[in-house]
Amino acid sequence: MNDEEYNIEYFKEHELIRKKCEKCGTYYWTRDNDRKTCGDAPCDIYSFIGEPIFKERSVEQIRESFLSFFESHGHTRLKRYPVVARWRDDIYLNIASISNFQPFVTAGKVPPPANPLVISQPCIRLEDLESIGKTGRHLTAFEMMGHHAFNKRGEEREETGEIYWKNDTVRYCDEYLRQLGVDMDGVTYKEAPWVGGGNAGPSLEVITSGLELATLVFMDLKLSPLGQIDIKGQLYDKMDTYIVDTGYGLERFVWASKGSPTVYDAIFPDMIKELINAAGIVHPLETHHELIIENARLSGAMSRREIAKRFGISPKELKTILGPIESVYAVSDHTKCLAFMLADGIVPSNAKEGYLARLVLRRAFRMLKSLNIAIPLEELVLKQIKTLKNSFPELEDSVDRIVEIVALEKSRYDDTLLKGGRIVKQLAKQSKLKAQKIHIDTLIDLYDTHGLPPEFVSEVASTQGIAVDIPENFYSLVASMHGEEQKTAREPLLDGLKEKTE
Ligand SMILES: [Zn+2]
Repeated sequence: MNDEEYNIEYFKEHELIRKKCEKCGTYYWTRDNDRKTCGDAPCDIYSFIGEPIFKERSVEQIRESFLSFFESHGHTRLKRYPVVARWRDDIYLNIASISNFQPFVTAGKVPPPANPLVISQPCIRLEDLESIGKTGRHLTAFEMMGHHAFNKRGEEREETGEIYWKNDTVRYCDEYLRQLGVDMDGVTYKEAPWVGGGNAGPSLEVITSGLELATLVFMDLKLSPLGQIDIKGQLYDKMDTYIVDTGYGLERFVWASKGSPTVYDAIFPDMIKELINAAGIVHPLETHHELIIENARLSGAMSRREIAKRFGISPKELKTILGPIESVYAVSDHTKCLAFMLADGIVPSNAKEGYLARLVLRRAFRMLKSLNIAIPLEELVLKQIKTLKNSFPELEDSVDRIVEIVALEKSRYDDTLLKGGRIVKQLAKQSKLKAQKIHIDTLIDLYDTHGLPPEFVSEVASTQGIAVDIPENFYSLVASMHGEEQKTAREPLLDGLKEKTE
């Protein structure tokens, strides 16, 4: 992408300089003459752990500060859209605030509900399911705060004029961060050309203390066989529209303001306390304080193996220390994800979005069992709704339905395991006779056809003396096989469609 794309007037006026990261080679903009790296992990570590970036704020405070900031700058505040993307042909779940306006608004075929607008959109992404609870930063359910401006070229632009483009987008970002009390000398704007779903455009990642807080995408290109712009071997042309697509990570702002070891500690403190008590464990922050803080600071920059080595322990020992709290984190996350999924009308099943809800439900059942927690899952989902009800009162309308669905799913799950035990035992005996392993395809088939999680297969098979290797990304794998990718593969992408990926 042309360097000129990032030659933004605001940067010059405010004396930001363009530098090249000494570690990754990416270009970024900064106010700090002495800076050597782009500020992002893994080039920089999470230096905000234990040292918050600005004054502590709650989820509600950050959300309101963002929405009202943009309201006071001429944006119309919109209510959230559902987390199940029924208006989309290519995805099941709502994965970004811009998803609400794709494909027709972004393609310029339907006018936007307001222009410019601001929204805080609950989103669900399951592609990093295994990372939930482990990396400290991944969430299945998160709110993407976004301000969007939809500009048109040509005649229509002459009528209405430009809403705004790069200059104001960067200015708003700078002003919002400054208002929160962020030290602007530590903020970098990293150039990160964005490509996806048939579209492309320049984009800036907004980073401080190793943490990416926001992404500012300037979506203005579409794939075109005769296009004039070559990006990674693909030809693009300008779209008839050019769109400001921003994503500010609500939970990340809260995390940065608290400096907690993980995003989960920052946003789910009560749920974590309750689960820890119920499981009869102690937060490793109390037993292994130094290790936990150091692990949190390094987790964006180093692998588990490297971190264990640094502490002179084996990866297995590290896993023993972190395993239970990671399950607690994951249950905290999954119960919020389920609150939105079920309240927005998803019914667990073996197909489409129902499959994805069942996947999350069964992971949560399994983790509660591994923690020896007897609290029914539906109670925990209701607890999440109680926490969320001031911001999303509509969730409360579905309480009875949710209790019924989760309890029913649990009894189905128990039945499945009862029957599954026999199937797996048989299979393990056969494998033993043939001196074969249980293959990944078999694990996927056992999960898809019989609903048996690989951990359960492994447990039962080990009683027959058969060891099972479970791929680390098993759940992400099945989620992607049955989720977004399948829907995308079936339906061709429409003009003006794109997904923002991390
Ligand atoms: Zn870098």
